[in-house]
Amino acid sequence: MSTQQHECSNAMEQKIHEEFSTRFGGEGILFASAGRINLIGEHTDYNGGFVFPGAIDKIIEAEIRPNGTDRCRVYSVDIKETAEFGLKEEDAPSQQWARYIFGVCREVQKRGFVVKGFDAVFAGNVPLGAGLSSSAALESCFAFAMNDLFNDNKIDKFELAKIGQSTEHNYCGVNCGIMDQFASVFGKKDNLMRLDCRSMEFEYFPFKLDGYKLVLVDSQVKHELVDSPYNKRRQSCERVAEKLGIETLRDATMDDLNRIKDEISEEDYKRAEYVIGEKQRVLDVCDALERGDYQTVGERMYQTHEGMSKLYEVSCEELDYLNDLAKECGVTGSRIMGGGFGGCTINLVKDDLYDPFIAVVTKKFQEKYGHEPKIYPVVISDGARRL
Ligand code: ADP
Ligand code: MG
Repeated sequence: MSTQQHECSNAMEQKIHEEFSTRFGGEGILFASAGRINLIGEHTDYNGGFVFPGAIDKIIEAEIRPNGTDRCRVYSVDIKETAEFGLKEEDAPSQQWARYIFGVCREVQKRGFVVKGFDAVFAGNVPLGAGLSSSAALESCFAFAMNDLFNDNKIDKFELAKIGQSTEHNYCGVNCGIMDQFASVFGKKDNLMRLDCRSMEFEYFPFKLDGYKLVLVDSQVKHELVDSPYNKRRQSCERVAEKLGIETLRDATMDDLNRIKDEISEEDYKRAEYVIGEKQRVLDVCDALERGDYQTVGERMYQTHEGMSKLYEVSCEELDYLNDLAKECGVTGSRIMGGGFGGCTINLVKDDLYDPFIAVVTKKFQEKYGHEPKIYPVVISDGARRL
């Protein structure tokens, strides 16, 4: 799908409003939500560990107005398509993008809350399918709006995140965890959030980045693999946990793992070693941030990459190459972001190294793989909101 996306949110707002007034007349209320990054904590969610995401300055914005009927009319500025649908289960629209919005409406209703017909125009600048969770941004924008417009904001924020997650499960065929929607709903400017995936408790950690930038380098490759590597990793973790008599690897230490080393396969050992290390690395990064010690943050990011590459084995040649280039350029921290086998690296870069790093990574990656990576600088920003 090719979409024309917007560089800045002012231009985007203007375009949205133009389309709204031409199509529906007058004006609606503006809502926004954000994509996300995850600084560290990968493949930890299903092991009951920690993730450490934040919302970013790449957003979805929607202008919405109740229309007094039981039908919804939605125009996507980026895809240049209209969808019209009712609010009953059998009314699902055929367009994939509209199913995210329909799904949110249905999941709100299934929880006993109200959705009525509305007209809406929306656009975004979260790159689609790049691992920044444009889908969660879309879901949480509309979930927030449905809460605000029809329910006096009675639905609590965690439930809004779950509405987005259930939308993916029930209407989009994506069996995702809660992190993306959580980050998109709870995101706060200049703060990352450490989410405990076992208790669902979370804490904000200030992340101001004086003298550093965060930038994603998108390899634009996605390796489709035979038999689901994701499920195989999960099964390894479950086998080791079972052997240790615990529910998840969250409760395992390296000593525990070494006690049963002879009773498990070498592969399962490596998988568990990564997960146990990764839990600790998230905690280390949080401690380091409280001291403003970005050097340690960066070291842990490199260690995560190494673990994902050598122990969990979810990297690929292109991502390892991007990681090597970051190291060569003196970048403070770099690692694969997301599940692996393609997508982006996330890089913590000193201000004065930023331009040379981007120049080198762009040139060298192009020379080796025949296409340039995409570069997305990000700033940690607010999540779902009414504008
Ligand atoms: P991501 O990693 O970005 O979440 P997904 O495949 O989960 O990738 O979600 C991308 C899908 O979300 C798109 O194919 C589209 O259906 C929908 N979407 C996201 N952003 C937009 C947008 N700006 N306009 C229309 N649809 C969008
Ligand atoms: Mg998604």
